[in-house]
Amino acid sequence: MPIYNQLSQNLNEIHDQMRAACGRSGRSPSDVRLIAVTKYAEWPWVEALSSLHQAFGENRPQQLAERQVLLPQIEWHLIGQLQRNKVKLALQHACVIHSIDSLRLLERVAAVATELQIRPRVLLEANLSQEAAKSGFHAEGLRRDWSQIVSFSKAVQIDGFMTMAAESHDPEEARPVFRSLRMLRDELQQTAASRNAGLDLCELSMGMSGDFIPAIEEGATIVRIGSRIFSGLGTF
Ligand SMILES: *Cc1c(COP(=O)(O)O)cnc(C)c1O
Repeated sequence: MPIYNQLSQNLNEIHDQMRAACGRSGRSPSDVRLIAVTKYAEWPWVEALSSLHQAFGENRPQQLAERQVLLPQIEWHLIGQLQRNKVKLALQHACVIHSIDSLRLLERVAAVATELQIRPRVLLEANLSQEAAKSGFHAEGLRRDWSQIVSFSKAVQIDGFMTMAAESHDPEEARPVFRSLRMLRDELQQTAASRNAGLDLCELSMGMSGDFIPAIEEGATIVRIGSRIFSGLGTF
């Protein structure tokens, strides 16, 4: 099948499943956005996809920057770990950074944003799956440092949270992680610090190819899907 047709078919199937998950949980399909994760996609696939979809995600700042210059009409989201020395590059090319995983990084992003005279949109990456290897804020850290985190919202727009569940063959295993992120968001949204700063933690970026259905049922507003979109095209 030609690349365009395969991508179009895959996207249609994903959108059908997203709509069905919204229906089951009483949500509007317009409340959930799909970010097409292109990190493993060959360039001709990315180009073909750009006539079908508007929002792409990359996990490396360098590749995001290179591709953003070639497809500037696309909204590019940085979803992978950000080193402090790549912050400027990321801010110059990404429309949202999903992967603010420490106070140190938030501080650095705020400083560079001030220097560039921009107020970028960011999400805080939470590690709620008890996996030591994963990066991100733990729930206790978010609660403990919340007023300090909120103080950076003068320089950056904190729109909500991102998380990744542990890999598993059973998507239901991810559901408790997604549910606890939504509940933690609700809790932090209610704090005096959030209300005083006028914070609106409206975004929950959660759900990938293997677990986006429970993520939507638990309140995801952004799902990040890669391999499912490109399946049938190559070595996935
Ligand atoms: C790769 C990646 C995805 C997409 O993963 P798939 O399983 O290919 O859908 C989503 N989020 C992050 C942070 C990723 O690194």
